[in-house]
Amino acid sequence: MDIWEKLYNKAQPLYKPAELNDFIYANNVVCALETKSGKIYTGVCVEGLCGVLNLCAERVALLNMLQDSGEMEVKRIIAFRDTPPSGLDGMPCGSCREALMQFSVNNKDTEIMVDYENRKTVKLGDIYPQWWGTMKSERDIT
Ligand SMILES: [Zn+2]
Repeated sequence: MDIWEKLYNKAQPLYKPAELNDFIYANNVVCALETKSGKIYTGVCVEGLCGVLNLCAERVALLNMLQDSGEMEVKRIIAFRDTPPSGLDGMPCGSCREALMQFSVNNKDTEIMVDYENRKTVKLGDIYPQWWGTMKSERDIT
C-alpha cells in the first residue's frame, strides 16, 4: 500500500452525503492530507443554507491539522466524492488553493492527487502560480 492508498482509505469511509438538518448538508466531499511531519488528517465538506458555513473538505482537513498539531505545511492532499480523483474533479477550488498558500508559502510544493488510478499529481505552485502573497513573504523574510 502506497501513501496515496493510505490517504484514500482514511478519507473514503467519511463519504456519507447527508442533510444533517434543514440547514446543513455535509460529507459529500472528503479529503485526507499528510503533513510535513507525516501525520494524516481528514476533512469533510460542510455546506450551510445561507452560505456562511460553506467549507470544502480540504479546508476542514487543514483546520483539523492546525488545531491538533499546530502544523502548517502539507506534503500531499487528496479530495474526492464517491470515486477516486480523476482529472479536474481532484483539483482544489480557489479558496482552498488560497488557504493552503496562506498556511505556508512552502505549500507551493504540496502534491495534489488528480488521477488516482495512474498516480498523477500536480504541485500547488504549478496550478496557482504568481500567488499575490509571495511578494509579501519575501519582504517579511528579508
Ligand atoms: Zn475548496
